[in-house]
Amino acid sequence: MHNRSGQFVVPGDKIGVIEEFASGPGTYVKEGDVRSKIVGRVVVDLLNKRAFIYPSVRAASFPKVGSVIVGQVQSVQSKLALIRIMKVGKRQLSGFFTGVLHASDIGQGLIKNMRDVCLAGDIIQAKVISEKNMMYHLSIAERNLGVIYAFCSQCGYNLSLRERELRCSRCGNVERRKIALNYGVE
Ligand SMILES: [Zn+2]
Repeated sequence: MHNRSGQFVVPGDKIGVIEEFASGPGTYVKEGDVRSKIVGRVVVDLLNKRAFIYPSVRAASFPKVGSVIVGQVQSVQSKLALIRIMKVGKRQLSGFFTGVLHASDIGQGLIKNMRDVCLAGDIIQAKVISEKNMMYHLSIAERNLGVIYAFCSQCGYNLSLRERELRCSRCGNVERRKIALNYGVE
C-alpha cells in the first residue's frame, strides 16, 4: 500500500481505492474510488486501514444544502440541465462542482422543455436542495432564483430585460427563460 499521507487534495480528488483503505471523515466513495470531499491533506491511518482528510485551515467554501450558488449552464436536455457551479454566495470556488437542475424544480408547474428555462452558456442563481457524492441537486423555484445573465441563441450577444421580455439588443431576437428577480443586475 502506497502511503499518500500529507498529499494536498481538493474536492473530487482520488485518494485511492476501497481495497486499500476505508473511507474516513472528509472522504466519500464513488465507483470503488475513495475521493476527497473537502480541501485539506490526506491522512492514512495504516493501523486501521482508513483514509481521512485533515481540513485545510483556510477552508475553501464548497456548496452545502441550502447554499445559493451561481453557475453556468453546461448542457440542457428536455428534462434536466447540468450546471457548473462557480460561486457559493459571493465566494469563488477552488474545486470543480457539478449541479443538476430537474424540470420538477423550476417552480412553474410542469415544464415541457428545459430549453424554455435556460440554455447552455446562461448564468444562473440556484439553491442547493440535496447533495450526494459531490452531485448537487439544484432548484430555481423561488422568485429570486433563475437565470441572471443570458445570451442570444442567434448571435451570442447578451439579452436585456425590457418590459418583461428578454430581447437581444443587437438582432432583436426575443427569447424565453425562467429569470431571477435580479436578472442583469450584476
Ligand atoms: Zn441576437
